[in-house]
Amino acid sequence: MSHEGMSAQKLAQIKSELEERRQELEQEMTGLYQEKFSDDQVQDVADQALSSTMESLKASIHDSKNTEFKRISRALEMIDEGTYGICADCQKPITERRLEYYPDATRCLVCQEAYEEQGA
Ligand SMILES: [Zn+2]
Repeated sequence: MSHEGMSAQKLAQIKSELEERRQELEQEMTGLYQEKFSDDQVQDVADQALSSTMESLKASIHDSKNTEFKRISRALEMIDEGTYGICADCQKPITERRLEYYPDATRCLVCQEAYEEQGA
């Protein structure tokens, strides 16, 4: 095979992993606001300050999960479009390591850096 991209098999595997992860995130985000810190737990230890710290902590956890959720949703769209893992600029495959962190990456590292330098 001369095609530089990923095999269909590999892509299908990644897709099912991403779908699984997305479901996990969805549950975690829902669970985040359902589970309450019990009153007896909080009462002795601290006051409102702690509970508001907890709230903002939860909000920031939710934020980061939501960001990952969106990345994964985008990545799944790109798998369907056939653009996943391929650099939009040089058409070369994006490294798996990069895709692990940025599943919705549209550029390889080299092109991304070039792009960011242009913008600066
Ligand atoms: Zn590139």
